[in-house]
Amino acid sequence: MRRTVISLSTILLLACGDDVSSEGSGDGTEGGTSAGSTSATAAGTSQTASGSGTTESADESTAAADGSTSTGDEPEAEPEFARDIRLERLTVNQATQVEVVAGGLEVAPEDYNTRVISGRRTLVRGFWSLHATFEPRDIMGRLTISYPDGTVLEQDFTQFVAGESSDGAGAASFQWLLEPEEVVPGMTYRARLFEMPDSEAGGELSDPPPIVPLAGPGTLGLYDVPLELRVVLVPVQHEFDGCTQTPDITEEDVEAMRMELEQNNPVQAAMFEVRDPMVYTETIGDSGGFSPLLAALARARAADNPDPSVYYYGLVDPCDGYPPGLLGQAIAIAGPPTLENGQQRISTGRWNNSGAAAAETFVHEVGHTQGRRHVRCSGGEAGIDVAYPHAGGRIGVWGFGIYDFELRSPSGGRDYMTYCSNEWVSDYSWEQTLDVIEVLTGFDLADTAAKPGVVLAGMVHEDGSTEWWTQPGEVDPSTALGTARFETPTGTIETVARVRPVPHGHNARYIEVPLEDAARAMTAVDVLAPGSSFRVGADEIRTIR
Ligand SMILES: [Zn+2]
Repeated sequence: MRRTVISLSTILLLACGDDVSSEGSGDGTEGGTSAGSTSATAAGTSQTASGSGTTESADESTAAADGSTSTGDEPEAEPEFARDIRLERLTVNQATQVEVVAGGLEVAPEDYNTRVISGRRTLVRGFWSLHATFEPRDIMGRLTISYPDGTVLEQDFTQFVAGESSDGAGAASFQWLLEPEEVVPGMTYRARLFEMPDSEAGGELSDPPPIVPLAGPGTLGLYDVPLELRVVLVPVQHEFDGCTQTPDITEEDVEAMRMELEQNNPVQAAMFEVRDPMVYTETIGDSGGFSPLLAALARARAADNPDPSVYYYGLVDPCDGYPPGLLGQAIAIAGPPTLENGQQRISTGRWNNSGAAAAETFVHEVGHTQGRRHVRCSGGEAGIDVAYPHAGGRIGVWGFGIYDFELRSPSGGRDYMTYCSNEWVSDYSWEQTLDVIEVLTGFDLADTAAKPGVVLAGMVHEDGSTEWWTQPGEVDPSTALGTARFETPTGTIETVARVRPVPHGHNARYIEVPLEDAARAMTAVDVLAPGSSFRVGADEIRTIR
């Protein structure tokens, strides 16, 4: 048996702005403000023994500090069940809360509000109700996890119980933390409440006693597939008007961005690379949006030719200011993930001098390239997801940060696809992105090389100007609303054109047109789409591939 003793009582922090009627800033700019966010200084520091999956006996010093009587491998008498208290609910939380025991009964995995994934840090919480005669005192909560290989993990958590339990205020709950390697398929769980060994409290044992699930150990329903994100950060070396500015992306910055992405996405891990800087010599502040920069990033990604799953994210600290009202921008709201549409996994945002300051916008923009539309909160969001289930962009269920250990309340937190502050992942967003991540991770594992064709890509900027280049890709005709007509010396070739609005843009459009070999002999091409038509000469097209 492995036993760990943890003292989590101080680690759960209520995010600032929670439990108050915060409607967010709603200023209409990308990502809103970050005034409502907090830094969690205590995270990790008070987590003690649970990090070691190989602990074979109790950490005596921790046990002593905890007032616990854990004595490792020595046989010991089972403590007495706690009196005048019922154990009612258990929840697990990997970012967004899932009820696994309700009213003492196990919730069937198919009834979970979101999928719980294997191999991810997981907070388990227990909630009680009291008899009227309960005397305030320490109560020990014991979580017992049994694994298919026969090992057993026990965690004891001592909680001073003085009133009813709560998901939020004071985080009055029993709290057990499972590390990623402790969250594996086939594991069962059961929780019990005990009197402390020296307890002299009176009272009666509830009927049933405080043990859940009552009928026997519950099976944690885990979605057991590899789930990873791969990101290339592109520092933009802006050279303009005698100035040169390049974000200096340190390991610490990468860590901040990785943790924010992992906290908000259903993954076991996100992998980051920092690319060589991409030199960019045009204006950024006056361009009416980041679309010229996105076009340059698209060409850089096409030239690099990474695996199809890889997300490119530009970080920019411009010499001449930012497009007004924009914190970041994605090249498109990507369609369903395919081997051929890697060129839709491109976005960019402000550097703001640190990875920590860039992280929130980064999560939102990557969200667009995962196919996510905006969620209505401030009212300034355009192109909203009408299927979003929680009013006002609220996250709807309790959120928990696996790194910052903050709790976000269902009504105080806002989905990260809104423009409001207190951004967090909702149960809805968790489910939506999980499917995308699973497909892309599958591509990596199958080591499936993309063999897409070539497309003619175009970016229409806010001022109506355009730029055109070739890149790898394909266009599913069912997703294309436009047409293209190539003029070649031997005749005309007609095909489809896919035109997608650039999120946060007004007029900006991202265009892709399949480019057959025969069309490469073109002298010009007419691209026709609802509301826009362009005639492009062959000499205006940059050949990347
Ligand atoms: Zn957006």
